[in-house]
Amino acid sequence: MDLFIEGDPIADTKAPEGPIETRWDRRRFEAKLVNPANRRKMTVIVVGTGLAGGSAAATLAEQGYQVKSYCYQDSPRRAHSIAAQGGINAAKNYRNDGDSVHRLFYDTVKGGDFRSRESNVHRLAEVSVNIIDQCVAQGVPFAREYGGLLDTRSFGGAQVQRTFYARGQTGQQLLLGAYQALERQIGLGNVEMNARHEMLELIIVDGKARGIVVRDLVTGEITTEMADAVVLASGGYGNVFYLSTNAKGCNVTATWRAHRKGAYFANPCYTQIHPTCIPVSGDHQSKLTLMSESLRNDGRVWVPKAKDDDRNPKDIPEDERDYYLERIYPSFGNLVPRDIASRAAKNVCDSGRGVGPTKLGVYLDFADAINRLGRKAIEAKYGNLFEMYERITGEDPYEVPMRIYPAVHYTMGGLWVDYDLQSSIPGLFVIGEANFSDHGANRLGASALMQGLADGYFVLPSTIANYLAAGPFDKVEASHPAVVEARADVEDRIQRLLAVNGDRTVDSFHRELGQIMWEHCGMERSEAGLRKAIDEIRALREQFWQRVRVPGDGEGLNQSLEKAGRVADFFELAELMCIDALHREESCGGHFRAEHQTPDGEAQRDDEHFAYVAAWEYTGTGESSVLHKEDLKFEYVHPTQRSYK
Ligand SMILES: Cc1cc2nc3c(=O)[nH]c(=O)nc-3n(C[C@H](O)[C@H](O)[C@H](O)COP(=O)(O)OP(=O)(O)OC[C@H]3O[C@@H](n4cnc5c(N)ncnc54)[C@H](O)[C@@H]3O)c2cc1C
Repeated sequence: MDLFIEGDPIADTKAPEGPIETRWDRRRFEAKLVNPANRRKMTVIVVGTGLAGGSAAATLAEQGYQVKSYCYQDSPRRAHSIAAQGGINAAKNYRNDGDSVHRLFYDTVKGGDFRSRESNVHRLAEVSVNIIDQCVAQGVPFAREYGGLLDTRSFGGAQVQRTFYARGQTGQQLLLGAYQALERQIGLGNVEMNARHEMLELIIVDGKARGIVVRDLVTGEITTEMADAVVLASGGYGNVFYLSTNAKGCNVTATWRAHRKGAYFANPCYTQIHPTCIPVSGDHQSKLTLMSESLRNDGRVWVPKAKDDDRNPKDIPEDERDYYLERIYPSFGNLVPRDIASRAAKNVCDSGRGVGPTKLGVYLDFADAINRLGRKAIEAKYGNLFEMYERITGEDPYEVPMRIYPAVHYTMGGLWVDYDLQSSIPGLFVIGEANFSDHGANRLGASALMQGLADGYFVLPSTIANYLAAGPFDKVEASHPAVVEARADVEDRIQRLLAVNGDRTVDSFHRELGQIMWEHCGMERSEAGLRKAIDEIRALREQFWQRVRVPGDGEGLNQSLEKAGRVADFFELAELMCIDALHREESCGGHFRAEHQTPDGEAQRDDEHFAYVAAWEYTGTGESSVLHKEDLKFEYVHPTQRSYK
């Protein structure tokens, strides 16, 4: 293809061999340790205070390292993780319904459409059970059954009930747990907390990640911060689409800056489109709202059988309704994985049977569940979600079915990491949604929290020691040429953004970029569409640098300036996402290519040619990226056509 160059293949050299259930134990045993006295002499920078970064910073500090923690919010407690609603998976098998570490491993590899690493996913399933114990010990108020045992519910892509939850606020409660642990370490002086600071560059000295350049978002001051290792826990990049369920601030800058400095970016085109979000209601919107997947435990998804049926849903009799997920996928029904449910919703709407004013909506109906369990029971499980829905739409979901439609929600792509969670830059570790992680081409519900906390509490604190065992490294002075250059790059970029002084707002560019991405790199992609998108992105990016208007200056709080820097990075990422989507001539999980589908419209993988991780190396804007392939081996879960029928 004309848009990239194929480079040498890469391998995950840290992945241990042998029986899969012994690999994590063996890696931990073989990895070097750092003795407690030496830990005190070393500093680790952690960018991000969500579930991944908060748990990692607290744990590393508890182990004795000096930690410097950064987030752009006014408090670490406001990281986007706080928005997570539905739950967190763990193979505890409290229900005795046939769950096990192996089953969680199997479901996750299959759910990811056979595009993740078996070793990583098995480790995730093993560690999942420790996470629940850790969080319960911290006092996280998980829902309990009448007898006091922890309650669980179902999530998509699984036939067991393994999702632990705290009403519709699981992320908030888990984050409070991590935050308490972090605050304790801040109080003890082991963590230096820097809220309202944005990392704008990575500093590399002698080939190793040794620091970051940050901007104080209140004073505008730019500083360089040095350490023995850098951890990025900066979350996902779904906001490249402008409209998404992510918090407005979520962005790609931290990982993109690292990518530009040499960290490979893996599978950037794998985006999760969540099936149950409140439909877009007009172009005034800047954000979309998720209705948790947990609602599909009790809500039934349907559309009218007839096209353009505008009747009130209550007036549509049972035999004129199409419960299409139950019809097409009888064994998983409403709880098929997200990629499948999203595409099915798109298909029924494309066939003219969508509901609501825009016709881009399907019903999520609780009438049966309310009749069966009573309103109180439904209120107890989902009360806050129902309230949120009513506040936004003005409709009472206890009385009329919710209207939902797919929306961008999560990014499975991210910086490439090896089994130790180390990127292709030595000393740069990446955790949580920011790495390309364990979810393959599609993430199962309730597994992002599991992965973020697995990485932060359990995996990184073991694997980073293997790297730090060679430290403490030589001190790097602020006068070092690499530090001076990184800082100058940041200052220059800020000046360039301010100097354009054009006639269009940052938001207007972001919105237009998002429309291009949604149309051509969203739920369905095609060669022609992706090529068009690449041309449009390039043209719009050029216009951005000529016409963007950033009012004010860089000397203090300037949210337009913050946004402008983030949108500039989104422009570069967007192009790479489209190139990645274009080169992957198959459909898998969240990546659905119109040209590659089975006769009944399901994703058609091509394992012979595409069973690899696509790790992209940056060569310069306008230059062809280099593609490195990491082959995926499946010894335990053999790739088959995924079926939830
Ligand atoms: C509405 C919603 C509901 C969800 N519900 C669930 C659920 O029920 N179960 C589930 O498993 N998953 C759920 N998810 C997904 C899950 O919440 C996220 O994937 C996860 O919380 C990401 O955690 P993280 O720690 O990787 O990143 P985040 O929580 O996004 O944290 C990123 C951190 O990085 C910081 N940061 C980023 N860039 C910079 C920078 N340049 N400089 C300084 N700091 C920076 C931010 O300030 C923040 O502290 C949901 C997602 C959404 C949007």
